[in-house]
Amino acid sequence: MSATRSGGCLCGAVRYEAAWPPLALVVCHCRNCQKQSGSALSVVAMVARNGLNVTGEMAMFEDRGSSGQAVYRHFCPACGSPLVTDTPAAQAEGHIFIKAGTLDETADLTPTVHFWSCRAQHWFPFPEGTQRLETQ
Ligand SMILES: [Zn+2]
Ligand SMILES: [Zn+2]
Repeated sequence: MSATRSGGCLCGAVRYEAAWPPLALVVCHCRNCQKQSGSALSVVAMVARNGLNVTGEMAMFEDRGSSGQAVYRHFCPACGSPLVTDTPAAQAEGHIFIKAGTLDETADLTPTVHFWSCRAQHWFPFPEGTQRLETQ
């Protein structure tokens, strides 16, 4: 069993290795995640900050969470893949978030919590046994 998992953007300009398994694996249905991903949701792995190594240059968009807190959304400037999300709280607590869809291996991922279920698309079937939070 490997203690890291690799991933990268669509074009391959940005690659990363993250400490694995993650501290948490969650789904976020908030509008900002829908906008940023161009999809219905984000699958996000919370990993140890000091266990994340990124190679290649990422661009950053400073977003705002619902609480008004900064959300730093890092992405590949060449292909646009969203890769890493960071917040001041995550910095203080020693973790950071990876967009789990960019991992090289995704078949075994089972998110356990769904954030912003109130914003979920009406057709989304919440898997049985997962926790739903109206907001975050
Ligand atoms: Zn790229
Ligand atoms: Zn979100």
